Order: sequence, then structure tokens, then C-alpha cells
Amino acid sequence: MTVEQFHVDGETAVVTGASSGIGKSIAERFADDGVDVVVCSRDIDNVEPIADGIAESDRPGDALAVECDVTERDAVEALIAATVEEFGGIDVLVNNAGASFMANFDDITPNGWGTVVDINLTGTYHCTQVAGEHLKDGGGTVVNLASVAGEQGAPYMSHYGAAKAGVINLTRTLAFEWASENVRVNCISPGYVATPGVEAQMGVSADEVDRETVERRLGTSEEIADIAQFLASPAASYLVGQSIAPAGVPDIKEDPEI
Ligand code: NAP
Repeated sequence: MTVEQFHVDGETAVVTGASSGIGKSIAERFADDGVDVVVCSRDIDNVEPIADGIAESDRPGDALAVECDVTERDAVEALIAATVEEFGGIDVLVNNAGASFMANFDDITPNGWGTVVDINLTGTYHCTQVAGEHLKDGGGTVVNLASVAGEQGAPYMSHYGAAKAGVINLTRTLAFEWASENVRVNCISPGYVATPGVEAQMGVSADEVDRETVERRLGTSEEIADIAQFLASPAASYLVGQSIAPAGVPDIKEDPEI
């Protein structure tokens, strides 16, 4: 019996959108496990403190911050080049960068629709395609962040739900195409997670999440990092093209009035 297969240590990971929330927790978790991480966001002033925090801690993994908007192909190419130059290759890509806003479908402008699809879906396409040759060199894993909105739809987030449904579908297709290249592709489709944006929106705090009760409608970034670490690790070697949906409560269709 061993637990070694749950570790990702010794690898190099790129985590997009790692200046806050889930991406930050995944980057820190990987560094805890001895992974060298490259963290990016649209603003180096937001993401550099994350890399500095990792580098200055006693975590065994190293960190590099790169300014990169995942919707811009040139910037993504520079991100991947900087990663390979610093750490010699890429083993794990976490497509975490994402954003949305709430609006009636009727009120979503072409610009608003395009922005949300660009960040959540096209950004995932750019990063995965550019990192591809390095992931295939020796094998690797891709972990995409989708959403329960991509599985089930989400009122007033039609653009986001559609983009995340695209991420789930891309995950499955790419997992098939890259299986023979020894690259496993999976995604995580969370329900609500207590990141700063969601905390502000819902008026709750991660500190209030209580796992002693059965009310589990809000997850923490660390709980999503647990799943990302597992999917990136050899322990998930038999998981390919899957969408894991941590949501705290089972997806049961039941009429509460009956
Ligand atoms: P968050 O706290 O809002 O963080 C989003 C991150 O993405 C930030 O680091 C942001 O940094 C970065 N970012 C935004 N646009 C970017 C772009 N174009 N290029 C590069 N980086 C960009 O988000 P989160 O709640 O942690 O969510 C992380 C992922 O999980 C997202 O894909 C989200 O859709 C998904 N998700 C979240 C929840 C939830 O309840 N929190 C539920 C389901 C799915 P800058 O602003 O510095 O660029």
C-alpha cells in the first residue's frame, strides 16, 4: 500500500488566472507538493505577489509569475516560452482563468458574449494548443476549470454556461485525440466556491464553511485544489475526458413539495 501516486512533485505546472481564488489555491497546493509553478493573470501586479509568496515560503516548489491575457495568442505563446525557458518543459496545464457577469440573455451584447466566450473557452483553446507540444514530450495532464453552469445551464449566465459547456466538450474530445500522446485531459465543474468574487456576491465567507453540518452548498478553493492535485497525479491515471462536479450536495431531481 502506498500513497505516492497522489503526488505531483518534481513536475512543472502552468496555472492560468492564479492571482486569486481557485487558481491561487491550486498554485500554492502544487508548490506545497514540490511542483514548480508558473502563474499568470492579466496584470503582473496582481500575480507577482502570489509567485513571491510561494518563493519566499518553505514550500519545496518554485514559482514564476508571467503577465498573460489568455485571450491573446501572442501572450500565451510568450507564457509557454517563459515556462520552458525557466523550468525546461511543461507537465501540467491548469486552464483556470475565467470570468463572467449576470445578465438576461436579451441584454447580452455581442461584445459581452464575445468577452465571456473568449476568456473561458477560447483562452482554454489557446493555452492548451500552444502548450501541447511540451505536454506531449514525455506525457502530461490538462485540468480545465469548467462549471456546474456548463453541465446544467445557469439562469442569467447563458454566455458563461455555453462557454463552460464548450470546455467540457473540448475536454472529452481532446482527451480522445491526445490519449495516444500520453496526455490526460479532464475538467472540474464546481458548484459555488467561496472565492473573493463569490463571497462578495453571496455575502458569505470561506470561514463560514462548516463541514460538520450537512449543508454543503459552498465549497472552498482548497477543496477544488484537492481535486486538481488528484487529477494531475498518477492516482488519476484511469480518469480520461471526465468532468468532475464537486457541488456539496447530490444532483437529485426531487420535488420538495411532494
Ligand atoms: P476569480 O477569483 O474571479 O479569479 C479569476 C482569475 O482569472 C483571476 O486570477 C484573474 O486575474 C484571472 N483572469 C481573468 N481573466 C483573465 C484573462 N483573460 N487572462 C488571464 N487571467 C485572467 O475566479 P474563481 O472564482 O477562482 O474561478 C476560477 C475558475 O473556476 C474560473 O474558470 C471560474 O469560471 C471557475 N468556477 C468558479 C466557481 C466559483 O464559485 N468560484 C464555480 C465554478 C467554476 P486578473 O484579474 O489579475 O487577470
